[in-house]
Amino acid sequence: MTQPLLIYNTLSRTKQLFKPVTPGRVGMYVCGPTVYGDAHLGHARPAITFDLLFRYLQHIGYKVRYVRNITDVGHLEHDADEGEDKIAKKARLEQLEPMEVAQYYTNRFHDAMSRLNCLPPSIEPHATGHIIEQIQLVKEILDNGYAYESQGSVYFDVEKYNGKYRYGKLSGRNLTDVINNSRELDGQSEKHNQVDFALWKAAQPEHIMRWPSPWSDGFPGWHCECTAMGRKYLGAHFDIHGGGMDLVFPHHECEIAQAVASQGSDMVNYWMHCNMVTIGGQKMGKSLGNFITLNEFFNGTHEKLTQAYSPMTIRFFILQAHYRSTVDFSNEALQAAEKGLQRLMGAVSDLKRIVPSKQSDEQTHKVVSELRQKCYDAMNDDLASPLVISHLFDASTVINKILDHKATISEADLKELSDTIHLFAIDILGLTADTSATNAAREEAFGHVVDMLLEQRAIAKQNKDWATSDKIRDSLAELGFEVKDTKDGATWVLNK
Ligand code: ZN
Repeated sequence: MTQPLLIYNTLSRTKQLFKPVTPGRVGMYVCGPTVYGDAHLGHARPAITFDLLFRYLQHIGYKVRYVRNITDVGHLEHDADEGEDKIAKKARLEQLEPMEVAQYYTNRFHDAMSRLNCLPPSIEPHATGHIIEQIQLVKEILDNGYAYESQGSVYFDVEKYNGKYRYGKLSGRNLTDVINNSRELDGQSEKHNQVDFALWKAAQPEHIMRWPSPWSDGFPGWHCECTAMGRKYLGAHFDIHGGGMDLVFPHHECEIAQAVASQGSDMVNYWMHCNMVTIGGQKMGKSLGNFITLNEFFNGTHEKLTQAYSPMTIRFFILQAHYRSTVDFSNEALQAAEKGLQRLMGAVSDLKRIVPSKQSDEQTHKVVSELRQKCYDAMNDDLASPLVISHLFDASTVINKILDHKATISEADLKELSDTIHLFAIDILGLTADTSATNAAREEAFGHVVDMLLEQRAIAKQNKDWATSDKIRDSLAELGFEVKDTKDGATWVLNK
């Protein structure tokens, strides 16, 4: 049975019942990374949010085609049409071929995504692999009269478009505001209006990433790739387009304009955006220079981090907030997430230790019989993952009670409890046991045990009980712990 899934549509500003264009199938496009640097926490959020949606849509019976692009050309230093291409700049600074830069960071992005347990998308198209499709899109917009050529570049005519359609309907801006807020920049005299955006840019002589086109040797504007590749792989009308909230304007607003100007109608039915990760209340991002990369989190190597955080802690931290609320980074919040994850995954492993009774007590039966529907209701209400987690915590309380012999559970209820927890915690939320955290906790505990033994040895030595003192030292040596006596007392190292 397909669940009645409500999702918040940024375009309508309401929650809408999800109904796909083609029954049983979902086309979903998510804007992927620009591959000129390591992914940071701000990138983890859309990846995890849309992974949750991807997993859930599949679970409730849809065949999902999930497309997430790799931006490897056309994203200039400033989100307006100015500056150097971000990848070309990195390549120039490091004396690399631009595709070397793109491949290097694509590989690292994939590695980080897999550690976060984000499933790979169905198709991962590269902008540079779809120049022909982008040129075709630009031609259509030109033919329909919503773009103009200027000195080898092609710009979208926003004012003309706005005369017939509405520019700004996604972000809720009107054209006058956009005009008042845009900066007049040097070298942009080739535009008729400062709000016009580039569909094709003629390459400067020193620009290394360039392709031939009817207008000039150049490269596509950043917004073109998602419209062209979304249409190629998902069709002229598809279901979901997602990304971070910072993409609403100008990127997605421009994508809507391009789609409508080329084909006369909207391409996307549901626009979904996850909120930002903030740090001290400010958006975490490359442009602000206040970001912490995922690898820095995993290794604990950033000055703002008091410890390393495992990929699963990061995933749990993101899922603990609703995707449309902001999440503020702090060590305290991450440490709380680490504990929450351990508690939840502890409950998953504790399930195996439960011995069922003849029947469940009333309270246990109530919690178990309601759990599955409560989790579905939460997911169906615009992916309320924090609520799912709180229902799973309620279930973990029941598990603890059973193990403490303060509650009983029947075999049938135990199976239902186990199936539901596995379904939502592991299959849908995508959580896994955090072995690195468990191992670190174990190692720490081992260390304390060795310290305690050495204290006992010190007492034995004080009492001139050499037999006990030697026995402790020799037994530890057998286990690989080398004990060294110093004038400040005994120390140990593990030689393994
Ligand atoms: Zn995009």
